[in-house]
Amino acid sequence: MKRNLERLANQEFDVLVVGGGIHGDIIAWDAALRGVSVALIERGDFGSGTSQSSLKIIHGGLRYLQDGNLSRIRMMARERTTWMKIASHLIHPLPCLMPTTQQISRSRLALGIALKANDLLSFDRNQLADPEKDLPDGMIMSQRELSRILPGYDVCASTGAAVWYDAQIYNSERLLLEFILSAVDAGAEVANYVEAISFLQQDNRIIGVRAKDFQTGQVFDIQSRLVINCAGAWMDCLLEKAALRSEYATSVAMNVIVDQVWSDVAVGLTSQPVKGKPSQVLFIVPWRNKSMIGTCHIPWHAAPHTFKLKEAMVQEFLDQINSASPPSKLSLEDVRHITWGFLPVNKAHANKQHVNLTRDGMVIDHQKKDGISGLISILGVKYTTARMVAEQAMDLAMNRLGMKAKKCQTHVTTVRGGKIDDFKAFLRRALARVPRVINENSIEHLVYTYGSEYQRLVQCVLSQPDLARRIDPPLLVTVAEVEHAVHHEMALTLADVMGRRTELGSLGLPSMAALQKCAEIMGAELGWNLERQVQEIDLVIQKYPFKQMERLTA
Ligand SMILES: Cc1cc2nc3c(=O)[nH]c(=O)nc-3n(C[C@H](O)[C@H](O)[C@H](O)COP(=O)(O)OP(=O)(O)OC[C@H]3O[C@@H](n4cnc5c(N)ncnc54)[C@H](O)[C@@H]3O)c2cc1C
Repeated sequence: MKRNLERLANQEFDVLVVGGGIHGDIIAWDAALRGVSVALIERGDFGSGTSQSSLKIIHGGLRYLQDGNLSRIRMMARERTTWMKIASHLIHPLPCLMPTTQQISRSRLALGIALKANDLLSFDRNQLADPEKDLPDGMIMSQRELSRILPGYDVCASTGAAVWYDAQIYNSERLLLEFILSAVDAGAEVANYVEAISFLQQDNRIIGVRAKDFQTGQVFDIQSRLVINCAGAWMDCLLEKAALRSEYATSVAMNVIVDQVWSDVAVGLTSQPVKGKPSQVLFIVPWRNKSMIGTCHIPWHAAPHTFKLKEAMVQEFLDQINSASPPSKLSLEDVRHITWGFLPVNKAHANKQHVNLTRDGMVIDHQKKDGISGLISILGVKYTTARMVAEQAMDLAMNRLGMKAKKCQTHVTTVRGGKIDDFKAFLRRALARVPRVINENSIEHLVYTYGSEYQRLVQCVLSQPDLARRIDPPLLVTVAEVEHAVHHEMALTLADVMGRRTELGSLGLPSMAALQKCAEIMGAELGWNLERQVQEIDLVIQKYPFKQMERLTA
């Protein structure tokens, strides 16, 4: 995958996608699979917006039972199956539980009925060929079993627990990248670090964008019959360039990563009201031998770029978590990493105290809404529903372009790395023929990260065994992965490699040794002098909240 700005500037595309988050990337892939000529530009790196902050759960929709919205649950259950089918290396079953109490709505009976309804609504969830992807029926467990599964949790107030299965993204940054790589495989033209700075407009018709390349400062035009605005929280910032606005504002959402609270199971606990914040269900999710806890919602109605995360906000969230009574009382010193991003709220319901999230993703047709043709905007609310929203967007786009409707293929096509029928058997086969220069742990890491494409990395190491060196042991990431990211995955900055191509930065600020080693490797590939390497390291450090974690983890 290589940037080619000349092709972006010199070709007229059917569709130009602005924004390389999960929605934009799947739209580009969907368009390319339908044979539409498509380009995508992203002003930062692919996935560097809200998409990199997800709690990594592909929801089956159980929580929406309380709204009685059965069609939404059905849709989410279907999507969960689709994700496991098309990206089988990166999405795996996740057992979840929530303690039951004496309270009627949280009783064994009420949650038992909810689990039965959930099983019925996802009746076809186990039709995948891969047995690893089977999601067992929900069940109610006893208080005794609960205390065994959650050591240290005070089970006195609970009567047992409701247990169900969802799915978890092993590495959401890589998943997003697989979509963009798959889009390129199917013919899309894509570039990171290119911003749409204004629209090209003819009367009431959008015919492309004026773009700026942050690598060179060059400004150029991209001609396109249709522009799809996938700018996420910055949707309105882009619409303003055409004197348009939507009905949506943003709020902030945050997760924290701490040392593992419980392994193997995601636990939903109800917090007490804290400092005017109502009680809510928080999930403590096992992830890479740590726990990811979410989600904290912070009302924020100003422009997204003006938001600054403050220590007091994190402390308030920790107070909320502690009120839900996990065994360890968490303090700021326990926080390894913080991820945060934006979620849409309806402007009409925006409330200074509480966050009323928009529940459904949306495709906004500006021809119908504002009389401006050639422009569609996407309102994304969940990673889980992004593929389906992308399908709806491309259905509308095909219609608007007057192109012979070629049906969506994204629900039946595997993404790059996803060509695996039986994940466990695939892994066993890979482990049965580990080359001499690589160890078993590394092969397992490569299969979980690159799926059916893991041999690409193995071949790199076989041709140059030096590339098998690890960057930051005990993490399994090797020099080969860093070089591969630069050569084949459009990694242009150190932050791209640390945060989105490899998992080096996913659990907090990487060690200085790892930063220096990576900066050196990238420097050799991209011609960075020492000063540039230091700048790149500084930029990575700045990206960690509270610059962060240094003080917290010291
Ligand atoms: C804390 C948190 C936890 C979450 N957990 C989950 C979860 O567990 N499961 C789930 O299903 N969902 C979850 N979500 C929701 C999910 O992450 C988001 O709905 C999704 O990532 C939004 O994707 P997007 O593509 O719409 O936006 P983004 O990822 O923000 O992408 C928009 C992109 O547009 C780019 N852009 C903006 N303006 C321009 C421009 N002018 N030119 C070029 N590019 C531009 C931005 O740089 C950005 O990369 C969570 C969200 C948060 C914040």
